[in-house]
Amino acid sequence: MDYRRMGKSGLQLSVLSFGSWVTFARQTDDYTNERLMMQAYDAGVNFFDNAEVYSAGLSEEMMGRVLRKVNWDRSSYVLSSKAYFGWKGADKKPNQHGLSRKHLMEACHEALQRMQVEYLDLYYCHRPDPNVPIAEVVRTMNTLIQQGKIFYWGTSEWSAAEIMEAHMHAKEMGLEGPAVEQPEYNLFNRRRVEVDYEPIFRNVGMGTTIWSPLASGILTGKYNEGIPDGSRMSLEGYEWLRDKAVVSDKLARIRALGDFAKELGVSLPCLSIAWCISNPNVTTAILGATKESQLTENLKALELLPLMTEEVKAQIDTIMGTKPVV
Ligand code: NDP
Repeated sequence: MDYRRMGKSGLQLSVLSFGSWVTFARQTDDYTNERLMMQAYDAGVNFFDNAEVYSAGLSEEMMGRVLRKVNWDRSSYVLSSKAYFGWKGADKKPNQHGLSRKHLMEACHEALQRMQVEYLDLYYCHRPDPNVPIAEVVRTMNTLIQQGKIFYWGTSEWSAAEIMEAHMHAKEMGLEGPAVEQPEYNLFNRRRVEVDYEPIFRNVGMGTTIWSPLASGILTGKYNEGIPDGSRMSLEGYEWLRDKAVVSDKLARIRALGDFAKELGVSLPCLSIAWCISNPNVTTAILGATKESQLTENLKALELLPLMTEEVKAQIDTIMGTKPVV
């Protein structure tokens, strides 16, 4: 495993990490979660990602149970959670979601209880909240740092302007700005990471823990001939994702990318993940998996990094047609 420094912070994250969105509770049980987390950890993965909203708190509870059982040295891994959406679903009351001081403090406290840990290494604002001043968010995250409940704070899917506003407030108040952003980044979704955030990487420094490197699995080619039973796109409640992801225009490009992967003698999932981590502004790609065989395959992506030459990347750009125009 390789490790990268998270932006300008001193924290080192494994280039491939592991997250629990959709999978924990919805598709996998405690037994499988333990197997998957142990497999990742044994391969050198040191970062495990979670959020209050994942399976309405159950995902944090499940990860907490595994961590308690495997009893790894707490200093050997990095644990995260995120707040914004709340975990009470449609019944949530006004202060049970969002980025107010009240919700962030309460959500962090609840995450620590559910995961049975004393602190989170990373804590994210899962989305921007137009109803809360960014200065309030900066102060609250710094209070959590000062209380020792979190070590670094970050954003997820914030615009470049919102991230810069947070840094401006932090600087004025002598506080810590966000050290990391968690954006979607994959061969279908590139603009934020490659264009919008470029000045932040250059001028401020920022780590990125990117999500859905396989665009929820479509970049494995598994949906090319239909929707396999039990796959994410077959799940009730995820029709919105299926309708967005499994569309003929995308599938045509994935088939062509699959042919290119064959020419190179590599698997499509590995090629897609290796492409993500070949961007030096990506600190880590968070992998999702429902089966050990998927993780076994995806963890091999690291070996493909030397293959990601400018020439190969240019060919991928031509096939996908998703390189952002600046
Ligand atoms: P991916 O895009 O890599 O999708 C993972 C899913 O694809 C798996 O659960 C599995 O689903 C399928 N898959 C993976 N590998 C293979 C393989 N080799 N062969 C066949 N199928 C495969 O990542 P996720 O979308 O899961 O995102 C990763 C993590 O990022 C999340 O767990 C979460 O921690 C984070 N995240 C953060 C978000 C945010 O807003 N900050 C939003 C979304 C995710 P299946 O078996 O069901 O088909």
